[in-house]
Amino acid sequence: MKDYSCATKCTWCDGCGDYGIWTAMKRALVELRLLPWQVLLCYDVGCHGNMSDKLQGYRFHGLHGRVIPFAAGAKLANMRVPVIAFGGDGASFSEGVGHLVHGIRSNYPITFILHNNANYGLTLGQASSLTWQGQPMNVSPNGIPEQTLPSMDFVFSLEPTFVARGFSGNIPQLTEMFKAAIEHQRYGFAFVDVLQACPTYNHFATHEYFLERCYDANAEGHDPSDLKKARELATADTSKRIATGILYQRTDQPSFYDRLVPRKDRTTQAVDEVVKVDVSGLWEGFV
Ligand code: SF4
Repeated sequence: MKDYSCATKCTWCDGCGDYGIWTAMKRALVELRLLPWQVLLCYDVGCHGNMSDKLQGYRFHGLHGRVIPFAAGAKLANMRVPVIAFGGDGASFSEGVGHLVHGIRSNYPITFILHNNANYGLTLGQASSLTWQGQPMNVSPNGIPEQTLPSMDFVFSLEPTFVARGFSGNIPQLTEMFKAAIEHQRYGFAFVDVLQACPTYNHFATHEYFLERCYDANAEGHDPSDLKKARELATADTSKRIATGILYQRTDQPSFYDRLVPRKDRTTQAVDEVVKVDVSGLWEGFV
């Protein structure tokens, strides 16, 4: 675990769900026997993005909403490296929603962890598209007039190959989920929705709220290969019970990389080939 530790002081608020996700990810990487130089961690902008200097590894902290394109690009260039992309609910379902759509439908071979605290925490508690309708937030004291985006219904409509849901307060379960989501990269895009407490700005979906409602669907016998049941569990009313665990997984679909005709039968990675290309001829007409 200490190999993944950074000296940088944590600046997350007390009780923030980011601590649980950070700890579970460290545990998952260690239990998969991956060393920091063997993984690429990509971060969007947001409170969670500050994890980029709190967790060792190759790290890239990009522009708001754009974590999926650069994580996918890095992975396609070098399939040997596990690539994990982290994004918040604000960016992922607004600024970057197009990238999420194409990440899932393209089945890019990466793991995507959604820090879902149902608001923009870094910019002081603005409502996101996953904020509950009618809940007062800092810049919308009367509550947002729009409907809350049905995120799980949306994700399932894109025919994903892996969907899991966890809670930042259940670190052992999150660890197992992250390990499965990282291993799923050989089959494609793994989407993990982590319901996260934000005690500073989210006063409706609190740590206690999740603690009382979350249950382990796999422990109750849910079979992740059952698409109909998975969608039913993922989209069910969360005011009473919230199904968590690996809700859906299929391994019979080729990933985006496996569909690339020019990569067929290649024994090298694109990143190896780039260094061998002589581009000097391209300049001849310009000198
Ligand atoms: Fe965490 Fe919310 Fe504080 Fe951001 S504002 S660090 S999400 S508790």
